[in-house]
Amino acid sequence: MIKSVIEDIFAEDVFNDSVMRERLPKPVYKQLKETIDKDLELDSHIAGAVAHAMKEWALERGATHYTHWFQPMTGTTAEKHDAFLTPTGDGGVIMEFSGKELIKGEPDASSFPSGGLRATFEARGYTAWDCTSPAFLKKDAIGVTLCIPTAFCSYTGEALDKKTPLLRSMEAVNDQAVRILKLFGHNDVESVSVSVGAEQEYFLVDRDKYLQREDLIFTGRTLFGAMPPKGQELDDHYFGTIKERVAAFMKELNEECWKLGILAKTQHNEVAPAQHEMAPIYSTANIATDHNQLVMEIMKKVAKRHNLECLLHEKPFAGVNGSGKHDNWSLVTNTGKNLLDPGKTPHENVQFLLFLSAIIRAVDENAVLLRFSAANPGNDHRLGANEAPPAIISVFLGEQLEDVVDQLIETGEAKSSLQGGRLTTGVNTLPDFRRDATDRNRTSPFAFTGNKFEFRMVASSLSVAGPNTVLNTIVADVLEDMANQLEKAEDFDTAVHDLIKKTFTEHRQVIFNGNGYSEEWPKEAERRGLPNVKSMVDAIPSLIDPKTIEIFEKHHVLSKVELESRAEINYEAYAKAINIEARTMIDMASKKYIPAIIRHTTSLAESINAVKSACPAADVSVQTELLTTSSALLTKTKTALKKLEEVTSQANEKAEGEEQAHFFMDKVMPAMNDLRAPIDELEMLVDKELWPVPSYADMLFEV
Ligand code: ADP
Ligand code: MG
Repeated sequence: MIKSVIEDIFAEDVFNDSVMRERLPKPVYKQLKETIDKDLELDSHIAGAVAHAMKEWALERGATHYTHWFQPMTGTTAEKHDAFLTPTGDGGVIMEFSGKELIKGEPDASSFPSGGLRATFEARGYTAWDCTSPAFLKKDAIGVTLCIPTAFCSYTGEALDKKTPLLRSMEAVNDQAVRILKLFGHNDVESVSVSVGAEQEYFLVDRDKYLQREDLIFTGRTLFGAMPPKGQELDDHYFGTIKERVAAFMKELNEECWKLGILAKTQHNEVAPAQHEMAPIYSTANIATDHNQLVMEIMKKVAKRHNLECLLHEKPFAGVNGSGKHDNWSLVTNTGKNLLDPGKTPHENVQFLLFLSAIIRAVDENAVLLRFSAANPGNDHRLGANEAPPAIISVFLGEQLEDVVDQLIETGEAKSSLQGGRLTTGVNTLPDFRRDATDRNRTSPFAFTGNKFEFRMVASSLSVAGPNTVLNTIVADVLEDMANQLEKAEDFDTAVHDLIKKTFTEHRQVIFNGNGYSEEWPKEAERRGLPNVKSMVDAIPSLIDPKTIEIFEKHHVLSKVELESRAEINYEAYAKAINIEARTMIDMASKKYIPAIIRHTTSLAESINAVKSACPAADVSVQTELLTTSSALLTKTKTALKKLEEVTSQANEKAEGEEQAHFFMDKVMPAMNDLRAPIDELEMLVDKELWPVPSYADMLFEV
């Protein structure tokens, strides 16, 4: 049999289940496996044996160091390397790695965002081994490092990271979903896990050009830049042929992913020029989260090897589509059944309809929180801009399911399911095939896509831990309420039927199958009373809403203190991001654009004088008009620059928190736009040779 290159390298750098089975003593393997599969407490006795096997495996592969790899609230990953070495006393060294070192690390927590937790508690922080996500090797210039996925918490146990609440939320939804399944008689089901597939969009630009733009370097997006003559209007990039240099990048990206056991599957060009996408096959939520963090890191690393820069910002270029991340989410039993699979006749699938109604209720009741979970400062440029879903949370069900829901609400009973029928191509040599019962919808933030929900609103650079933590928790809470009601019911069949009908009826308002980009939708949504929160800053309060606190505390996902700290961290993160953008604009305008514009006006003035003295009768009206326009725009630029400097320094005088974040949004952002406008206009007038940075056309079309 021919072995593909993928099989050859797949997971070669992962200490996964098959490696553990091979290398661990049988009883240790069995116990660890049970811990992982059944969410049990980790027995510290087995840690020593696992640590030993892990070390041997890593050393054989050239590792010199190990690190607890964690995901602080910065949204990226963190690592502090320790060599395996221990002195022997006779001048030599041996390689050691104990169970204690595997289980627990003690990085100093004081330099990571803690949102006030730091003031109340000690600076000490702990990392704790997450045995549900496999350890792996990182190979780079530093050498080979054994990376151990960990959760990160404070001295007193508050979560300081994104993984801890995610793991807690997975347990919460597991507990409640199993309760519901027992009511349906599935006593064989022991656990329900969350499946996640994160589709990742990104841009690739030439690195030499990237390095000439401080805005890209410091903020990840262009803060200035006039539209090129061609944008994305021809749609000729979407699914287009992949250019050689990009193809070489993708090949290497895939290989690096495969080695780490990441199921890199799909790759294609996206809508905007220079934009692409990679989608892996879904896996358990926390592994999918770890993998997505790695994918983003690998993308950045591999791009540099091809003299490219990978931009993960949500809106690197104004005027063309930005990037998002689609978070595909479903619930799967340990017996392999997807709870969101409607089957061919969803109207008969009562269990599916109950889960569906629970999710719809959860989304409707926690819309702003869900919207917050997808937010970061960059995503504010996307949501509602007719390229990404609107900022209004609604659920797309598709024709088939909406019809079932309508029947249920209107007649109390669903008697049929629309079927897709056959799609005939009209060409004899092409096969006809069965059509899906439902078309796709690209404009919905939360779309049912066959056997999963696709949360399409998530920011491209964001960790998917947050959105999935929220989804799991709000769904767990509704399932709990439903289980409480149904467990008490005398007649289960009638009770479940009534509950489904009631839930759909009460939350029908959040279902919307139409065009989310249309002008009517925001008005219609307002009539329905659906929130339309346009900015991240205005969504942050949902974190500390009494209802959120109640739900998150009840399911032990995050405490009130942890939620409050997260709100603080987000206000700070927003303020810092805008502050860096404003300062970068000030810097670029003062040191690059204004000097270039002065050179341009000077050369125009010199040309007018030269022409006039050579030939007093010559017509210099073109130069004169250009000079007048350019000088006026230069004045505008200078005025706007002064204003931006003023408001930015005012913003920095404010105390960190909600008020400061609002000031950045309400005062600094508009001042930034006012500075950008005249400079972009000037870019269209000034000689390209004089323009100090690469243009949009240079970056978007010349990879
Ligand atoms: P689409 O084209 O509708 O986006 P795909 O089949 O390409 O659908 O899947 C997109 C992403 O969704 C992939 O990462 C895929 O692995 C993931 N996915 C598919 N089924 C599920 C599921 N049941 N749960 C979670 N993610 C899923
Ligand atoms: Mg998709």
